[in-house]
Amino acid sequence: MIYLDHHATTPCDGRVLEAMLPFFTQQFGNAASRQHAFGWAANDAVERARKQVAVLMGAGSKDVIFTSGATEANNLAIKGAAKARRAERDHLVTVATEHQAVLDPMTRLEHEGWHVTVLPVDRLGLLDLAALEQAITPRTALVSVMAANNEIGVLQPIKDAAALAHAKGAWFHTDAVQAVGKVPFDVEALDVDFASLTAHKIYGPKGVGALYVRRNKRGVKLAAEIDGGGHERGLRSGTLNVPGIVGFGQAAEIARAELSPEARRTVALRDRLLNALLAMTDGMTVNGALDARLPGNLNVSFEGIDGEALLVGLDDIAVSSGAACTAAEPSHVLVALGLSTDRALASLRFGIGRATTAAEIDAAAAKVADVVNRLRTLSPA
Ligand SMILES: *Cc1c(COP(=O)(O)O)cnc(C)c1O
Repeated sequence: MIYLDHHATTPCDGRVLEAMLPFFTQQFGNAASRQHAFGWAANDAVERARKQVAVLMGAGSKDVIFTSGATEANNLAIKGAAKARRAERDHLVTVATEHQAVLDPMTRLEHEGWHVTVLPVDRLGLLDLAALEQAITPRTALVSVMAANNEIGVLQPIKDAAALAHAKGAWFHTDAVQAVGKVPFDVEALDVDFASLTAHKIYGPKGVGALYVRRNKRGVKLAAEIDGGGHERGLRSGTLNVPGIVGFGQAAEIARAELSPEARRTVALRDRLLNALLAMTDGMTVNGALDARLPGNLNVSFEGIDGEALLVGLDDIAVSSGAACTAAEPSHVLVALGLSTDRALASLRFGIGRATTAAEIDAAAAKVADVVNRLRTLSPA
């Protein structure tokens, strides 16, 4: 099997696993145990990891809240900000191509009485800043726009979007899961108030993530979602996942050290894949802007091809399609770009990763072309 689904998850890097292992056995202390050396060692390890994660996004250690992943971080930022501002502001703004972990908390708040504006994107998947400016009112509590899309890899203009939010007193959250560690991302340069991250998209373990929470500016604060022992500045109670956090820290340090050469390598593989597919198939289009995109992402669709037959044919390549598993549901992201249901279903998302080789790219391109061309001969559209 060739794995080209690195937007869904990444394997844990061997260096990350090695850093984690002692914290399951010998160094098993609770980071909140303040009375003995077991607790101190665990706490030191957590604080070291907090620094590593903070540095990856240009933040201070104190601004990092560890969570169980990005779904929880998004829920904490969106519901926490909305509830903290409930008395004076009752409006939220987001974008149609966001991850479900942003859209669903927004929908829940809407059911609970908040007003939510979901902005469209253009055919390339980009947010229109003039439309964003129009949508934000003096009652807007929070604007949430993802840094990089998990299906089409499109990079949104975060700095400009954050400035528009702040101009009307709204706070700004970004789901930065796909951007962090892959393209430069700096919370100070972008001036965001909240940013969600997860370890398993940057070669760390599953089940650990973080929320960046700005302090001492614009009165930014959050209402907690999980109450208990008051861990993580009282914003996320619960005994810390010490091995997971240590792994997240190590993964962040590696991602930062290798970001530039990895970006150059993966973009070259992406272009190799695109050129091979263009040469070997007809009726293929790229979904989303090519020039504002994650280096390791390619999303294409094929005219007149049955999406399910396409996926069935690609039996030795792990890619994802417009079809969510067996249910023939088109991707909400591709629909937001204006693709028809059939076209959205006949789409493939390639996510190139750290271990992907040129030989794998060549083999995957040949296989996709073979299946597409075979399906075309079977049923000429
Ligand atoms: C994977 C992903 C998430 C969810 O992260 P988990 O840590 O798995 O909860 C959220 N947003 C984006 C953009 C993602 O790609």
